[in-house]
Parts: sequence; C-alpha cells; structure tokens
Amino acid sequence: MNPFLELGIRHEVVNAISELGFEKPSPIQEKAIPVLLTGNDDFVGLAQTGTGKTAAFGLPLLEQLDFTQKHPQALILCPTRELCLQIAKDLEKFAKYIDDVHVVAVYGGANISDQLRQIRRGVQIVVATPGRMLDIINRNAIDFSSVKYVVLDEADEMLNMGFQEDINNILSETPDDKKTWLFSATMPKEVRRIAQNYMTNPFELTVGTKNTGNANIEHQYYLIRAKDKYAAFKRIVDFYPDIFGIVFCRTKIETQEIAEALIRDGYNADSLHGDLSQQQRDKVMKRYRERNLQLLIATDVAARGIDVNDVTHVINFSLPDEVENYTHRSGRTARAGKTGISISLINIKEMSKIRHIEKIIGKPFEKKQVPQGTEVCEKQLFSIVDKLHNVEVNEEQITPFLPAINSSLEDLSKEEIIKRFASLEFNRFLDYYKNAPDLNIEARDIRGGERGERGDRRGDRASSNGYTRLFINLGSVDEFNRGEMLGYICNTAKVSGKSIGKIDLKGVFTFFEVQDAEVEKVFEGFKSIDFNGRQVRIEVSGEGRSDRGGRSGGGFRGGDRNGRSRSGSGERRGAGDRGRSNSGGGFRDFSGKRRESKNRY
Ligand code: AMP
Repeated sequence: MNPFLELGIRHEVVNAISELGFEKPSPIQEKAIPVLLTGNDDFVGLAQTGTGKTAAFGLPLLEQLDFTQKHPQALILCPTRELCLQIAKDLEKFAKYIDDVHVVAVYGGANISDQLRQIRRGVQIVVATPGRMLDIINRNAIDFSSVKYVVLDEADEMLNMGFQEDINNILSETPDDKKTWLFSATMPKEVRRIAQNYMTNPFELTVGTKNTGNANIEHQYYLIRAKDKYAAFKRIVDFYPDIFGIVFCRTKIETQEIAEALIRDGYNADSLHGDLSQQQRDKVMKRYRERNLQLLIATDVAARGIDVNDVTHVINFSLPDEVENYTHRSGRTARAGKTGISISLINIKEMSKIRHIEKIIGKPFEKKQVPQGTEVCEKQLFSIVDKLHNVEVNEEQITPFLPAINSSLEDLSKEEIIKRFASLEFNRFLDYYKNAPDLNIEARDIRGGERGERGDRRGDRASSNGYTRLFINLGSVDEFNRGEMLGYICNTAKVSGKSIGKIDLKGVFTFFEVQDAEVEKVFEGFKSIDFNGRQVRIEVSGEGRSDRGGRSGGGFRGGDRNGRSRSGSGERRGAGDRGRSNSGGGFRDFSGKRRESKNRY
C-alpha cells in the first residue's frame, strides 16, 4: 500500500502527489502528518528548507478543511513572495483531484486588487507574507473568524525580517481556539517566544539536530589571502564546469561588484539584492530558475526563500556577519534529498568563525586546496570532451552545411580534427592559466606575509623569531597564572611546553607565542573547547582590535584577470551547453542520513 495512504492521506491527494514523484514520505512528513491529522495539537517543527515541509503541513490541511464552504479556514504566513507563490502552487498541485479547493497567494509588490478579488470570490486557504496580509486586514477585506489553522513557515526568517509585530497583529485577528503550526530552521529565543506566547503545549519535532545543516551538504573552506580572493573564486568556479551556484556576499555593493566583474570576465552571472525593483528581481530569478544563469550573486536578505532545486554549490564569497545565517545560506543547496557543496573563502583571521560555525552545524569543514591552473585546465578539457560527446545534433539544420564543412576539413585526419576542436575552447583556459600562481596559503605563509608587509614591527602581532603571537579569550579573571595558562594550552592543544614562547597574561584575555610549526595544532586543539560554559576562542593576535578588517574589502578588484579573452565566452557559458550533472536525479531517500528526535516541551 502507498505509504501516504497508510499515513491517512486520501486517494485523490495520493494520486496527485504520486504524479509529482512523491513515493514515500520524507522524515518530517512521516512524523508530522499523523500528529497534524488529528488536528488537536499546536505544533513546532524544526526543519531546514528542502526537507518536504510544505507537504508536511499541506497534506494534513487538505484533509481537515471543508471545501464545500468558501471562507478562509487556513492561513499560512511565510517570509517572502517567492515562498508564498511556491507554497500556493504546491498546495494547488496537491489538491489537483479535490473539487472546489481555492488557494490565494497574498504578497507585496503585486496588484492588491487582484488579490482582493480572489478573496471576495471565496477561498479556504490564504498563503501570505505578513505586510500585505496586514494591509488587507486593515482594509477589512477578509474575515478570519473561521480560521482553524495558522501555519507560520520559516518563522525565524520572518522574525529576521522584522515581521514580529505584523505577525502579532495578524494572529490577534484569528480565533483563540485555532491551532498554530510553526516551522523554523533555527530556534532563536524570539521564535521560542512565539511558541510560548501563542501555543499551548505544542508538539515539537526536530528533523536533523537543532540548528543543524542538512546532512547532504559538504562544508568546505579555502584559506586564501584577501587580495587573491576573486582569483581563487574564479578558479574554483572554473574547476566545476557544471556549477549551478549561489554566491553570497555581505553587502549590496560587494554583490554588484562581484557580479559585474564576473560578467566582464565572461561568466554567466547576475546579482540579486535589495536595491533592485521587484520586477528586476523577478527577472533575475526567472533566468536563474530556468538555468539561463549559472551563478547568482546575492545578499542574505535577497536570497531568502530562494527555493530552486538542483543548486550544486553555495559559495560564501564573504562569511555572514551572523554565523547563524550560514545555515540559511548553505540550505539553498542539497534540497529535496540531493547533495550539495557549501564553500567558504576565508583568510586566516576567519578560522575562528569557521570553528564557531562547525559547532552550530555539528559538522566539521573540510579544508580544500585552491586548484592549480593545470588542474583547472584538465577539468575543463574533459568537460569539453563530455559536451562534444553529448551534444544534441540538429540533423535537419546542419545537413545542408556538411558537404562544405567536410570539404574544407578534408586535409585533416580525425585526430587532428579532434585536437583542434577541443583546442578551440581549451586554448582560452590554457592562455589564462599559463603561469597561474599557487593561491593557497598555509597559516604560516600568511603570517610571514604579514610580517613582510609590516616589517619587523613587534608588539601586538606575530613576532619575527619563528613564533606567532596568538590571542586566547581567557586570562587572570579566569584564575589562571602564567604557569597554569602554559599547562592549559599544552594539555588542550597537545603541544610541548617548548613550543610556547612568551605568555602575556591580561585580565580577560592572554597573548601567547607559539612556534610557527605548531600554530595549526593549537587551532585544531582548541576547535571546540569550552571553559566554564564559555567557548574558548583562539585568534592570531591583531584580530578583534583596531586594525581588524583594515585590509578587507575590494580584494577581488586586483584579482588575476590577466587578459582572459572574453570573446565567445557568452557561448561557452550559455544556457544551452550546460550539462547539469547534478540535476534530474530522482528524489533520494530522505531517511538514514539525518538524526531525528521527537520530544514535547
Ligand atoms: P519543501 O521543503 O516543501 O520546499 O520541499 C522540497 C522539495 O522536495 C520540493 O521540490 C518538493 O516537491 C519535494 N518533495 C517534498 N516531499 C517529497 C517526497 N515525499 N517525495 C519526493 N519529493 C518530495
């Protein structure tokens, strides 16, 4: 028997979702559907996007509502217009074989009269972004007195976007005895407060560990100098010819600059940020969704709610200011059971941020080497060969030209033709990567570099005698004396006392010198260490004070754009020739890889 039928979903809906390829429930569906079908409980579901949340609440809703009535019975609030449209579309698909189901999507930036007209015609399910919903409520254009269910989807995102007050106002318009179902990827205290204020003894379900990223995502970082960032980024992109990625920047300006630089360099990229009009944003998203764009460069806010499946890579060109945002970013890949890679480009000072993120996602990062020029060339060559193999030939269109082509190539052997054909594309990469430098740095190199740049200034920074000066956020107030600090560092990092130089114990922190060769080991040893419930932080001395970030920004401008030919690059990166190795795969087994737990408040 179909497992969805066993869960209690009616035939009509099961038929519709079978057509969508839903063969068996995802973990969140398996756990949530039986609870939500009873209609008795408030509910909190902690789950990432892409886990099948929409059906987890959508299918039970379809079972509970009375479609012979034409007034609103369910209200779904979500953070973005994108998500709003997606949910409404999904619900309509699930309800394809049920009569008289009316769903309306209510969101800002679109004509309100159309939405009001649809509401007047009669709807049972309203999917809305908070701002527009409140606008409609304030016009007295909707009656929520029969609402039985309110779903708060991506609650953390809604609160991040400042919708707290709107949500309060909207909820106050709905009956007291409605049931509230809340879904969130993370559980900051603001979300928990909603749960406490608006719910009675909710059933809580976690898919994956709390705050944890999707298990199908590989997390990688590349350690590079700030000035090499753009060059390294391009090299990584070139190393993955079939990349279909989202690149995150910290600011609108950075987003715009990176996108412009990439376009100049012949990449198929565009930017998505808050300075664009809704229409411009829609246009960019449409191109991306249709795979006419290979790289979408976005800010955190603009990328919220992007629900494109098949994203192969998320690239953190800059790490987010709030480490919690890393989970949201990386969650844009590996949706619907697929796998994905989340890449971070960092400098040595950001190592501690990586360690912090590791704690949040509960998974280690893998340190990767920026590919050498020759490796990129090899990857590209084989990609060209693959494309040559798989290209679709339009017999009808090409046939008339073949005699002329054949005669002009007749003096060349098959081997020669292959060689020349592949070289057409390949030469560009060879030219570009000829003499390309190694962009990798080890912790030691960058410190050497810094010393070089700054002469042998001593004091706060790395010393010049083979030792590096590190900062640790523990000091005399934590009841350490110098000897105890030495012992603590040696024991925790498993390094010998001989490798530690001067220790400068302060009140709430300490500077200490470590032999260059042992620095990585110290970072490694302190990777996830707590002291009296506080996370211990190690940084290269200099971080966190006045000179922090002084050299950041703008690094990509001086990248290694050393004359790459742009001619023809549009075709090279055009939509038509992209083999999406990661796409089209069926829905993989959701189960097994993630840990699940279930508990009540
Ligand atoms: P969601 O988290 O609701 O955005 O769902 C992510 C993607 O997974 C969407 O493309 C859904 O159509 C798909 N999906 C959800 N549940 C299942 C399932 N049980 N089987 C196959 N695909 C699913």
